[in-house]
Amino acid sequence: MDATSMTDGFHVMVDALKLNGIDTIYGVAGIPITDLARLAQAEGIRYIGFRHEQNAGNAAAIAGFLKQKPGVCLTVSGPGFLNGLVALANATTNCFPMILISGSSDRAIIDLQQGDYEELDQLAAAKPFAKAAYRINRPQDIGIGLARAIHAAVSGRPGGVYLDITAATLGAVLDVETAQKSLIKPVDPAPRQIPAPDSIARAVELLSRAERPLIVLGKGAAYAQADEQIRMLVEQTGIPFLPMSMAKGMLDDNHSQSASAARSYVLGNADVVLLIGARLNWLLSHGKGPVWSESTQYVQIDIDPTEIDSNRSIAAPIVGDIKSSVDALLAAMKPGSVKPSAAWVEDIGTRKQKNMDRMAERLRANPDPMNFSSALGAVREILTKRPDVYVVNEGANALDFARNIIDMKLPRHRLDSGTWGIMGIGMGYAIAAAIETGKPVVAIEGDSAFGFSGMEIETICRYRLPVTIVILNNGGIYRGDTTGGEPSPTGFVPNARYDKLIEAFGGRGYHCTDAESLAQAVQEGLSSGLPTLINAVIDPTAGTESGHIQSLNPKSALQK
Ligand code: ADP
Ligand code: MG
Repeated sequence: MDATSMTDGFHVMVDALKLNGIDTIYGVAGIPITDLARLAQAEGIRYIGFRHEQNAGNAAAIAGFLKQKPGVCLTVSGPGFLNGLVALANATTNCFPMILISGSSDRAIIDLQQGDYEELDQLAAAKPFAKAAYRINRPQDIGIGLARAIHAAVSGRPGGVYLDITAATLGAVLDVETAQKSLIKPVDPAPRQIPAPDSIARAVELLSRAERPLIVLGKGAAYAQADEQIRMLVEQTGIPFLPMSMAKGMLDDNHSQSASAARSYVLGNADVVLLIGARLNWLLSHGKGPVWSESTQYVQIDIDPTEIDSNRSIAAPIVGDIKSSVDALLAAMKPGSVKPSAAWVEDIGTRKQKNMDRMAERLRANPDPMNFSSALGAVREILTKRPDVYVVNEGANALDFARNIIDMKLPRHRLDSGTWGIMGIGMGYAIAAAIETGKPVVAIEGDSAFGFSGMEIETICRYRLPVTIVILNNGGIYRGDTTGGEPSPTGFVPNARYDKLIEAFGGRGYHCTDAESLAQAVQEGLSSGLPTLINAVIDPTAGTESGHIQSLNPKSALQK
């Protein structure tokens, strides 16, 4: 056989990725995958090179959420792989489809622990954090390996998948014909899951008895891209809805049926709650008191049967994909049979108005120095006019305040710390949002949160991405040190000039100490479409320890 009819693992892997429509890879190059990245790029796959694997992994995961297909992250072996593992675990926790592909060292040496370069039993390390994990040991198995990874990532409840490929497999030679025959493109990797008709009937029966019904939309609903069905369900029934943070914008936050501004009232008083792609985890107080009432009954739509009854008894579970399930509900409900009582709608309206008036007052105040509300009021003023902008958000107070203050109008446009409450997703999510959608991104970051992925501003500048970063800078975790002396465990350098960092890479930095100049800087960042970092200086005493989740922060019993 002559050399022209031979190929190798590098080429087969790139062919397999292309066959499966993987058009973008997020990664950090190095041994043994440098040539894989190079070849992928030469073959027309977009390769986005990062400074740290965790950020590349977070980018891949959020790309998966936005596109309903696995985002791919590529890393080196050992430490590089481990750096990516937090992102893999975060993807699995948040139900984002992602594939972490890492090169690995010689099995024979790893298994005898003889001390290879970047030695690690990566497959074993990945398993507890991934929905599935596979290793490819032979070049003729690359096609199957990728197909298995794709199925695992997007079918049922999506999640993070680890795909290990040994250096030897990448370099191994095989003939072109064998290679071509070994490639697989899954026919239906995320099959519909039609709910059982009796589960639909049970749910409709329960909903039709409700007087104070509520629909809770989670990021599963956003992921499912059943936007029209969900809008019909909400508007045809007139049931108030509450979006979880990454479901904001499924319907306009200013929709008359939105109950966001009366959140605790509706959670505490609803008699029947329809959960659509939302888990009763800590973000919903586990469905328990004092937030929820003992007598509330639930309908829960989820693709994962083991989610049902995970925290509280579910009266009417619907196991199926959200699109099919909401379609089935709509088909089974007689017009007018499911509707909220007039008193419920009115009570919610009164409470909403009171809270919205209070919020408007806080946004109108113009304190010097700025606080979270006044700074975010300025950002809000600009973003209201730009619903197409993707919003990334992380921090403690920065997250809590922005979630309430920044309204969303379009689905899947808000990307944040999510289920795990993770810090460090900021730049990775912002980069992927810009790359995948071509739209401008505003990343609203606490100064602490920004630090976890801040070096990726070089990446943002290198690819000239339309990302505007707003750092709500109070000089610390939760808040800044004001006493002087030894830095506290939560304090940073006071008056840090984050805006100068981005200038080192050719981006534009702004230093803003008042709301007017902040609004102007956001406006300029967005209209320039260029990498921009705004250091929004706020009061170092603004913010509370642990933000809105102080109840989760244990205190010494001795202090009580
Ligand atoms: P949130 O944090 O916004 O409440 P969660 O991440 O807790 O949302 O919940 C998302 C839920 O959606 C998960 O239980 C997941 O199994 C489910 N899910 C994801 N995709 C689908 C889908 N296409 N159809 C049905 N359920 C889905
Ligand atoms: Mg801070």
